Amino acid sequence: MNMAILRVRDAACIGDDRNSAQSSAGILRRMEPDSDKSVIVVGGGVAGMSAACALAEAGLRVRLIERRGYLGGRASSYRHPGVDEVIDNCQHVLFGCCTNLIGFYERIGVADRIRWTNTMTMIEPGGRRTLLASSRWLPAPLHGLPSLMRAKALTREDKKALARAFRALMRPVPADSKETLGEWLKRNGQTPGAIERFWRLVIASALNADVDVIALPYAAKVIRELFLNSAAAGRMGMSTVPLSQLYCGAEQYLREHGGEVVLSAGVESAAWDEETSHWTLATRTGALTADFVVLALPFEAMARLLPQMPPVEGAAALAARIGKHEHGPICSVHLWFEREITDLDHAVLLDREIHWMYNKSRIQPWRETKGSYLELVISASEKFTAMSREEAIELAVTELGEFFPAVGGAKLEKAALVKEVRATFTVPPGIDAARPGSVSPWPNCVLAGDWIQTGWPSTMESAARSGHMAAEAVCAAMSERRKFLNANLKPRGFMRWFC
Ligand SMILES: Cc1cc2nc3c(=O)[nH]c(=O)nc-3n(C[C@H](O)[C@H](O)[C@H](O)COP(=O)(O)OP(=O)(O)OC[C@H]3O[C@@H](n4cnc5c(N)ncnc54)[C@H](O)[C@@H]3O)c2cc1C
Repeated sequence: MNMAILRVRDAACIGDDRNSAQSSAGILRRMEPDSDKSVIVVGGGVAGMSAACALAEAGLRVRLIERRGYLGGRASSYRHPGVDEVIDNCQHVLFGCCTNLIGFYERIGVADRIRWTNTMTMIEPGGRRTLLASSRWLPAPLHGLPSLMRAKALTREDKKALARAFRALMRPVPADSKETLGEWLKRNGQTPGAIERFWRLVIASALNADVDVIALPYAAKVIRELFLNSAAAGRMGMSTVPLSQLYCGAEQYLREHGGEVVLSAGVESAAWDEETSHWTLATRTGALTADFVVLALPFEAMARLLPQMPPVEGAAALAARIGKHEHGPICSVHLWFEREITDLDHAVLLDREIHWMYNKSRIQPWRETKGSYLELVISASEKFTAMSREEAIELAVTELGEFFPAVGGAKLEKAALVKEVRATFTVPPGIDAARPGSVSPWPNCVLAGDWIQTGWPSTMESAARSGHMAAEAVCAAMSERRKFLNANLKPRGFMRWFC
């Protein structure tokens, strides 16, 4: 492995429910195919980058405008001044089923920077381990069964309850179900152990909310994709480089395709010229014009921009939909110890405030950290979010010591706490009605962002999907049929009968 490539670069570098084009025909002006057409993509998160790169591939002149000084949005990295290290704003994991995110990484040539695993280790306070792994011999959905049945962290009753629940979820749950995951767990006789150690920790924390406010179809989707459909869909990926370094590939891709990335240039307002069919966007650094606009913003930023957009019918309805969204918090604690703490790459930590451990020294060996750098992730915890830096780090280190005795004798050299208060949007029952499609109420303007109607929860995959949907909608408006959405992984084994 070339260490020079993996060194963190600074400055610029760090830092199917789909809406088809036909539904947008009334709103997007049809144009003759024309590679001179230009598009401004607003928002340099995964949604904006994936839309921009797809549109550059389609031959449009693309400008990607980002408010911050670096790309990545909620999935980015930066040099933390307190510890003088480049850290991710939080560990981000992907799964084999994230076909659009993987497609985006492939397009920009960074897919080989993802390290994949088919195992997950659960640890109880005291250190007892349970390894969840896929059997190579059993067809889906049975591939995870042997390790689940051997799990020391679950009682016989817990395992029977989980097996029953998995069987019930083999069939897709109707998307319009109004049931919460909590109600469904009660109705399906889940034991306290199964709820605490599996549903709350693995599923609810993946959806970053409590079981009582998660819509059942979203929880069912996570179960089907990660545990039932196939071993390939459920394998977990982690970046071997800081997240923002992945996006150097996007910047380079855009440049090679005649595009441009404009950083530190938040869009403040937008005006549509009916006569010339052009958009003019006012940014902090000047005005920009284009034939098309893709607004790839989180819902709060979209709400702020909305009053500065041209008044049109439909804007109020969009504002009302945005108003139904809420975000949940995620915290991460970054710890540098002077010695090795564990031989594991990552683990699920049971029964405590800290939920996930990622051993960044092992996942990102180029760091050449003396000792070890661990990141702990705490999902949906109002309690943790309210703590001071000192309280949060002290609690995290104390709890970590209950799982890994080596923490006791190890010197903590430095530590950082990152609180992302608006990390992911929540998915309560009925949220789908509030997620708009790519079509916006304005001419030649499409929406993207993880909160758009992709059928996926708040993830990088949802963002990449929304970007690809937006790119298809823009191309369709130029009467160019382009396909950017990557197909879902097909269920394998017996799961083929339960599509
Ligand atoms: C702590 C944390 C942990 C997470 N863990 C995971 C995980 O493990 N796996 C996973 O798949 N997902 C995870 N997510 C969710 C994932 O990060 C998001 O779903 C995804 O990054 C959203 O991408 P986006 O492009 O839709 O939005 P964003 O990333 O929010 O990007 C929007 C961009 O628009 C910019 N912007 C805002 N206003 C303007 C303006 N007026 N002009 C120009 N630019 C503007 C913002 O600066 C931002 O860069 C996590 C999120 C957080 C915060």
